[in-house]
Amino acid sequence: MARESLKAKRERALAVCERMAEHYPDPRPQLQFGDDPFRLAIAVLLSAQTTDAAVNKVTPVLWERYPAIEDLAAANLADVEEILHSLGFFRSKAANCIKCAQMVLADYGGEMPRDIDEMQKLPGIGRKSANIVTSIAFGDVRGIAVDTHVFRIAHRLKLSNAKDPSATEQDLLKVIPPELWGGVNIRWILFGRAICSSQRPKCGECFLADICPSAGKC
Ligand code: SF4
Repeated sequence: MARESLKAKRERALAVCERMAEHYPDPRPQLQFGDDPFRLAIAVLLSAQTTDAAVNKVTPVLWERYPAIEDLAAANLADVEEILHSLGFFRSKAANCIKCAQMVLADYGGEMPRDIDEMQKLPGIGRKSANIVTSIAFGDVRGIAVDTHVFRIAHRLKLSNAKDPSATEQDLLKVIPPELWGGVNIRWILFGRAICSSQRPKCGECFLADICPSAGKC
């Protein structure tokens, strides 16, 4: 592909977002968290390296056992590990859940911090997770959460060639208008699962094939 100007790349990125919005008009997070930002943060923390469906199976048990942040902050580590044992990295996730609850109580008066930088101080909450929580729970979109799907699709679409998720996010922020950032993560995850999968992308039935430099080449 000939070198693409920034203007052309922005136009292509806009077309990608518009088509994604047409195909996934009402993207909703698959993680279940009620309307509680703390529970969303814990669900996102637990979802690392595992599926949302697996997380949705354990969180009802967790919240029944520890309905309030105070309950989780005072929880026995082995008991939380037992509840989370079906998830990958359940030991570190259990420890981070408890520490997260303790820190929200001690440092933020029992309320999830709204500020994305403050949120990233919580154990187990990195920039990707903080982006998701601030966007979904508070409607405050500061960036694009780059998970494995967003990373892969951004590279196949040649919207980034950065080596890591953080630099990939910065590339995407330069070419996608801010008002569209909020829909990227959930829509691209749905698209990545259904069409542009890791092993066998379905380029023949892809609605982006005519604007994707990797069409038929993966
Ligand atoms: S054309 Fe193929 S590689 Fe490009 S976005 Fe679609 S499925 Fe992915």
